[in-house]
Amino acid sequence: MNYKPLLGKNAVVFGVANKWSIAWAVAKTWHEAGANLIIGYQGERLKKPVEALLSELPSSPPSLAFPCDVSNEQEIKSFFSEALKHFPKIDLLLHSIAFAPKEALEKNFYETTREDFIKTFEISVYSFIALAREAKALFTDGGSILTLSYYGAEKVISNYKIMGPAKSALESTVRYLAYEFGKDQIRVNALSPGPINTLAARGISGFTKFLKECEAKSPLKRNVEAKEVASVALFLASDESKAITGQTIYVDCGYSILGF
Ligand code: NAD
Repeated sequence: MNYKPLLGKNAVVFGVANKWSIAWAVAKTWHEAGANLIIGYQGERLKKPVEALLSELPSSPPSLAFPCDVSNEQEIKSFFSEALKHFPKIDLLLHSIAFAPKEALEKNFYETTREDFIKTFEISVYSFIALAREAKALFTDGGSILTLSYYGAEKVISNYKIMGPAKSALESTVRYLAYEFGKDQIRVNALSPGPINTLAARGISGFTKFLKECEAKSPLKRNVEAKEVASVALFLASDESKAITGQTIYVDCGYSILGF
């Protein structure tokens, strides 16, 4: 890419598990656009795979990785103090994290337990507030914060279950953060992609069949690719989108416009 709209920007990316992760597509695109990169990975288990992915990137601009399990408040604090040693400020943050216990995705929605509800919302929604809050002081020159939602926030997707209300809460969180962060020129938005074959998506039962249905029904007659989500993330990270905040933007080959 000759056009480097993110040259000199510092980006923090959460949610890279493997080469199929949407977060990895965004990280690569932001890096290619000139951004310095720090990845926050879930735990020791992901250290080697994430470092192996980073070794595929050109050495300039720099890219680093540190652990950050978002269920652990202390780990979030340690991650940002580590990041501060390398980046005097942050310009971009991607939250591409979701989790629901397996049982909660298998039972009827009305059978969701208190414990599974709390866990799902803690990892998939609260973590976004926690990361944004911790990062806020480092956004000294404005910037852009992004998260990943899904159409199940707005309409019933039968197998999405507890993740549906969690994504509704996440989209609302985007608006409330955008409102409070706006005066510091920190923009907060969500991308809502159509189905993409990743580790998290394969936890939803019937996902492969669903992919085929979306491909057949979407106005564009295909499914979205992670790199196409990354292109929109590049737009939302760049100054080209500097009047956009508080929005959830569909990147779904048009599926969400359908009435049935
Ligand atoms: P993925 O499995 O590659 O990414 C999920 C990430 O969440 C992983 O990197 C995992 O390590 C991280 N994570 C889970 N619990 C964590 C914790 N406690 N601490 C730190 N990290 C934790 O799958 P993906 O599809 O790339 O998912 C990324 C985001 O995109 C999710 O929010 C998902 O809901 C959303 N999304 C995915 C699709 C799809 O079809 N794949 C569609 C719309 C939205």
